[in-house]
Amino acid sequence: MRRWNGWGDENNHYPLRDAGLRHIQSLIGPGRVLPDATLAAVRQSVPASRLPDHPLVSKDPDKRIRHARGQSLPDWYAMRSGQFGLFPDGVAEPVSSEQVRALLAWAQGLGVQVIPYGGGTSVAGHITPQPSPQPVLTISLAQMNRLMALDEVSQIARFGAGTPGPLLEQQLAEKGYVLGHFPQSFELSTVGGWVASRSSGQQSIRYGRIEQLFAGGRIETFQGTLTIPTIPASSAGPDLREMFMGTEGRMGILTEVDVRVQRLPEHESFHVAFAPNWDSALRIVRELVQTKVSVSMLRLSNPEETRTHLLLGAEAWQARWLNTCTCSPAPACACKAASICRMASLTWAQLTQVSSVSIE
Ligand SMILES: Cc1cc2nc3c(=O)[nH]c(=O)nc-3n(C[C@H](O)[C@H](O)[C@H](O)COP(=O)(O)OP(=O)(O)OC[C@H]3O[C@@H](n4cnc5c(N)ncnc54)[C@H](O)[C@@H]3O)c2cc1C
Repeated sequence: MRRWNGWGDENNHYPLRDAGLRHIQSLIGPGRVLPDATLAAVRQSVPASRLPDHPLVSKDPDKRIRHARGQSLPDWYAMRSGQFGLFPDGVAEPVSSEQVRALLAWAQGLGVQVIPYGGGTSVAGHITPQPSPQPVLTISLAQMNRLMALDEVSQIARFGAGTPGPLLEQQLAEKGYVLGHFPQSFELSTVGGWVASRSSGQQSIRYGRIEQLFAGGRIETFQGTLTIPTIPASSAGPDLREMFMGTEGRMGILTEVDVRVQRLPEHESFHVAFAPNWDSALRIVRELVQTKVSVSMLRLSNPEETRTHLLLGAEAWQARWLNTCTCSPAPACACKAASICRMASLTWAQLTQVSSVSIE
């Protein structure tokens, strides 16, 4: 089950490694562990719902807690300390566009505020209820998570807007296709949320940002249903897709999303190279982009980010490479990281020819 006060599934644990802890302490000092609020204590702080009954609306305190916050740093402080602030008065999890439309009509009739909810990974505070004399209803798209249609001629797939990244790619892979949208929140964020927040993925350099992938869809609004057809780019007037993307749910609830998909690549490999300094790294990356070398992801980390990632995420033997690789380009180095050290002295052309070195 998903954590109620943090990221990911309750069964997954990533204890902080000693090297990582020492590194953080060296940067920001020793710090102190704050007490964690319990779910039982937070439950006590959930006020009575101001909503009347509706068959699709749950007023269960646990549901309201789980939909009250996103995943920004302030959200984490709020959740871990138990100081949530406000909770939605109810949560609905419709299974169809028709149910979403019915909920919107009900909410409009009662003057209820509505918050669309995808994967709840927002870092912008838009899924958190604000103080209001009106009740707040959160509409989660979580139950609308299926591949609904795949047009293999046009390579356009239709998904329920609440489909999270892994489930979306799994359903496409079974048919031999890939969307290729991998924001770092991929595990929990949804295709509807990507469109509503104009998201960008780690492999967008090959597959395109969500602007290029969003082909059309169905939006339920207080004024009725808006269908955006999957026509190609047109010179006739403004593009409704552009007007909807990034609106964070203010224009309506996207219930079905059409996306442009591609055939699964036959082979994919990921490589890492260490550059001797920031300027040469910038030059390498700029030239790779400007000469249109066909990479799907190109990520440049500064020394601090590289060090932090390795110390927090890599195995100890991988992190030890830091000691050899950050010194300088070392063509004569005989250590395990020798090939990586040598990479640092390659030109960008050599870099692309050699196809670099994997961390495995
Ligand atoms: C660890 C982490 C890493 C992240 N990495 C990236 C990244 O690499 N790239 C990036 O762009 N962002 C990133 N984000 C931000 C966030 O994940 C994205 O904004 C994501 O697209 C939100 O999707 P979601 O499904 O979780 O939407 P939610 O958080 O549920 O909602 C986001 C906004 O969209 C609205 N909304 C959601 N679904 C719908 C819908 N179906 N119809 C209408 N409105 C809707 C909500 O009301 C809200 O305003 C990251 C966040 C975290 C916590």
